[in-house]
Amino acid sequence: MSSPILGLHHVTAVASDPQTNVDFYAGVLGLRLVKKTVNFDDPSTYHLYYGDGVGSPGTVMTFFPRQSVRRGALGSGQTHTTAFAVPEHSLDFWRQRLEQSSVRSQDVERFGAPGLAFVDPDGLQLELLARARPDDRREPWNGSSVPAEQAIRGFDSVTLLHADGIATERVLVEAMGFRKVAVDGNRARYESGSGGSGTFVDLLHDPDAARGRVAGGSVHHIAFRVADDDAQATWRKRLFDAGHPTTEVKDRMYFHAIYFREPGGVLFELATDNPGFATDESVDELGTGLRLPPWMESDRQRIEHTLPSLVDPPVQKPGEAA
Ligand code: ZN
Repeated sequence: MSSPILGLHHVTAVASDPQTNVDFYAGVLGLRLVKKTVNFDDPSTYHLYYGDGVGSPGTVMTFFPRQSVRRGALGSGQTHTTAFAVPEHSLDFWRQRLEQSSVRSQDVERFGAPGLAFVDPDGLQLELLARARPDDRREPWNGSSVPAEQAIRGFDSVTLLHADGIATERVLVEAMGFRKVAVDGNRARYESGSGGSGTFVDLLHDPDAARGRVAGGSVHHIAFRVADDDAQATWRKRLFDAGHPTTEVKDRMYFHAIYFREPGGVLFELATDNPGFATDESVDELGTGLRLPPWMESDRQRIEHTLPSLVDPPVQKPGEAA
């Protein structure tokens, strides 16, 4: 196989109030707001991106916040949980921080990694998992009020819920090159690329699960990393040949994307690592102004007028005390 799927690229979910979303992800969880733009398919809605200091692929959680959105229903054919990796021994810090922010958390363990499960203000299921091995390849964002020693390093895994996950397993393994690496009760784990935290997809099997409904507090889609446009073109053909035709390549400014719905119902995207988030603002400025793609600039005034106002999270200079 030429260039493998390298792991998770981003996870995109639906939220309600954009300010509540910023306050939670940039405030409580200490991620960097790396891009404030609009949903390219619906410019009356923000598209907010959070990640590490530069928005590295594999760290990026994104949201379409719509004030009036109805709450979704968690069920079969959906992304059940998005898990972030945190350093070993940081769970006491996080337990306390969540409690101070009135977020109830519960202790969990995922294939030997201890963690905390909780929901965001819209009910989106999240986990922080402490990796046994320090995640030293990944640098955290150190401009938030979370000390760098405790900060989120990026994604650990996503968990998909299916009443019958057989077709989904087949897509992951046979079409996308994932390897089945572990089974624990009704949960099976698959990894891609070089493996490890940031490349895991877990399939949770619950034969009684009712069909879910994607709306507020649900994951809209998950995106996997491909190295570049050539790798993406190869994967597009490969998926087509395997019976999973994708969309055409869409220019998302910060990456190029193709999409297909896996047979179990979850929308999958394959996104390129390049060009990244520092294409239309400098690394220092990331997330500070509303960025629009060139084809929407002529409409900026109208778009800005429709969007609710948003107060940026306070940014500390690296090294400043919390
Ligand atoms: Zn996406």
